[in-house]
Amino acid sequence: MPLKVHPDIASLVPYVPGKPIEELQRELGLPRAIKLASNENPIGPSPKALAVLSETAPTLHRYPDGGAFRLRGALAERWKVTPDHVILGNGSDEILGLLARTFLSPGDEAVMAEHTFVIYKMEVKAAHGVAVEVPQKKWHHDLPAMAAAITDKTRLLFVCNPNNPTGTMATRDEVAALMARVPDHVVVVFDEAYYEYVRHAEFPESLDYVKAGRNAIVLRTFSKIYGLAGLRIGYGMTTPEITNYLNRIRPPFNANSMAQRAALAALDDEAHVGASRALNHAEMDKVRAGLLTLGFEALPSETNFLYFDVGRDGREVFDALLRKGIIVRHIDGRMLRVTIGLPEENQLFLSALADVTRAAR
Ligand SMILES: *Cc1c(COP(=O)(O)O)cnc(C)c1O
Repeated sequence: MPLKVHPDIASLVPYVPGKPIEELQRELGLPRAIKLASNENPIGPSPKALAVLSETAPTLHRYPDGGAFRLRGALAERWKVTPDHVILGNGSDEILGLLARTFLSPGDEAVMAEHTFVIYKMEVKAAHGVAVEVPQKKWHHDLPAMAAAITDKTRLLFVCNPNNPTGTMATRDEVAALMARVPDHVVVVFDEAYYEYVRHAEFPESLDYVKAGRNAIVLRTFSKIYGLAGLRIGYGMTTPEITNYLNRIRPPFNANSMAQRAALAALDDEAHVGASRALNHAEMDKVRAGLLTLGFEALPSETNFLYFDVGRDGREVFDALLRKGIIVRHIDGRMLRVTIGLPEENQLFLSALADVTRAAR
């Protein structure tokens, strides 16, 4: 009997993660490889988070606290909402899936930008919805066009801010103009995975829309600046009504006990967050300048990565860098995305890119 796969699922392609460092080293017999592909914190996890892991280890035979009482309480206090506004996920990725399954019936629409986080489309299709992709303007979300794309069938609208993979952001005024046009039957998803890296004075306080009772959700994560990507923990802040619906399908133990405990410690590790932000900004400015010297002008970025046009098939440059032990990210076309790493890693990336470009000329 041939398999009968749902056509929405059959139409998807598996997510291709950045190659693990050890795998590349093994394949190429390289003594060293550098991964600047997944927007991880190059400094490492919060030391305060590491310190509490051994405290949690002896209770690993117990299920985690499914209600995540302490972590939700701490997040609520930090962001001045009540705990019933907060939902945890196995990474914020999981919350994207919960949103799609909660709000989309087959054929319902989800509006998103072209060149945005690939998981949106995957989750929308997996929930048998229709992904409506709106072209960007100069690699920025075109929010007026996204508002215009809303129909009676629209249930979700994704604003990835700042956006992955472009690094660009939507301003407070642009978001206000969008929110003035979004009807109540649409839930606006503000995906703010890079929130802690933002420097721009006009970045919106999207949480204010949630506090005002709008149908919106703000997603944040411990995977990026907090350096806990491997533990898988992220969170959403939304109205108690929406939290209540999402909780109906949330697997009860989705946020594991190590992750809950480590996130609680990392949240208060101001030294780690501060050092991570300072390093990122100093190094980003250097990498941007280094790219410019090679003739590549990176897009503006409010994140921990840069997106730039290599002027030819990005795949070729990606492969050439890979052979030199440098893992970056190629999504499509002539663009490459590089995560800001440690000073030495960034230097090695720039010199490898210089070699690759010289060889091509
Ligand atoms: C990294 C990232 C996430 C979150 O990832 P999790 O590890 O699942 O929390 C979400 N959205 C965007 C745009 C990201 O880049």
